[in-house]
Amino acid sequence: MSGAGKHFSSVMKLLLKLGRRLNVVLYPELARLGTEQAQDEAMVAVAARHSRKWHYPVSIVVAPIGGLALGVLATLSLQRLGLCSFVPEVLVRTVAILSGLATGVIVLGCIYRNRNRRELRQLLAERCVAICRACGYDLTGNKSGRCPECGRAVSGNAARE
Ligand SMILES: [Zn+2]
Repeated sequence: MSGAGKHFSSVMKLLLKLGRRLNVVLYPELARLGTEQAQDEAMVAVAARHSRKWHYPVSIVVAPIGGLALGVLATLSLQRLGLCSFVPEVLVRTVAILSGLATGVIVLGCIYRNRNRRELRQLLAERCVAICRACGYDLTGNKSGRCPECGRAVSGNAARE
């Protein structure tokens, strides 16, 4: 592999690792799945459920591109105003691109976090993980048939194990 290729693949690996960390923070339910592979699969399955609705694929493309465009636009106007003449242009562009992309991803995360959590709990319950579908509480060993956290009746196979 060439030097640049090596750099690229280590950056991608780092991004993947960061993405996984972020996923577990955003979706604590993922911790119920033991392996990283199972967590990746669950997130892909959740995304696949969403992709049936038209707004999901559209927003997954539009949000990052929109963020990117905003970042570039902001940079261009700053440059035109001469406000970043003391900073190297490469740095300004890199920051614009990264912050634009990050904004898009954050907006997307805010819009879909609750839906994703709901879908994820549903998926876990279908796989016989003892979890409350309403709040995500761990229902392992629950005998009362009611979630002690939110009081919702435990339905179907959610309380087994
Ligand atoms: Zn609950």
